[in-house]
Amino acid sequence: MKTIHTIDDIQKLTKQIRNQRQSIAFVPTMGNLHEGHLSLIKKAHNVADKVIVSIYVNQLQFGQNEDYKSYPRTLEKDLLLLQEHNTDIAYCPTSSEILPDGYENHTSIKVSSLDGMHCGKTRPNFFTGIATIVTKLFNIINPDYSVFGEKDYQQLLIIKKTVSDLLLPVKIISVPTARSKTGLALSSRNGYLSKEEIKNAPILYQTLRESMDTIMSGNYQYNIISRNANVALANAGMQPDYYNVVNRNNLLPATDSDTKIIILAAVTFGKARLIDNIQIDL
Ligand code: AMP
Repeated sequence: MKTIHTIDDIQKLTKQIRNQRQSIAFVPTMGNLHEGHLSLIKKAHNVADKVIVSIYVNQLQFGQNEDYKSYPRTLEKDLLLLQEHNTDIAYCPTSSEILPDGYENHTSIKVSSLDGMHCGKTRPNFFTGIATIVTKLFNIINPDYSVFGEKDYQQLLIIKKTVSDLLLPVKIISVPTARSKTGLALSSRNGYLSKEEIKNAPILYQTLRESMDTIMSGNYQYNIISRNANVALANAGMQPDYYNVVNRNNLLPATDSDTKIIILAAVTFGKARLIDNIQIDL
């Protein structure tokens, strides 16, 4: 595995790969890798000849009072894991190259139709920061494929819309959410949870499953289902941010005629913000 830090070096390598007529799958991450990330890398190996994984904690996507400074950075361990999983190139860019003029005056990419809802409501710069930096990474690497997790479903749709609206020549592939045995969606931020909280955190996914069962049994009173779920989450000591039953394509509130829906949920639990979702086919 090659570990690369500069745009110049990564582009030399991607040029060589393309000269050999090999395809590239790219997995963007913020590091602190877990099984969820590794499942993306496995998928990347299935679709392309070479796999590039980036590790970059993207300052643009953090709000002022969020955890940019304390976000877990475990580069050495991450590089060992990437090597074990046959990654061809680990790309660890520096902010001085990605954001040479700082981040405040950077040009941004905003996917207006999906930006202001759900996570975007309480995290105003979040998706613009992601779409901007991911587009930049696509422009640097020019991958054939890029792999994203369905755990961050709104992010996945925003990346797909960025790619289709800007005609970026990359195919977006998604991978289902990797979970612990208890059902908790794996996340770098789970490390903020205490032992006691780790035991209770699976209640978020359990609540999603219960809502799914209710809907599958023919109850489409989505507002009431959301309200009951918020009460259950609050009773478990979580502070619900949102719990929305929505259309899977446009993320607008689900209507009676929608057959492909998803419940998107976010809570604050202790020091962590947990998000999760469940897809339902009616
Ligand atoms: P992050 O490092 O948190 O920015 O995530 C990098 C990529 O890994 C994103 O595409 C995430 O959606 C994906 N990811 C994070 N957690 C999981 C998980 N539990 N299962 C599947 N994909 C995940």
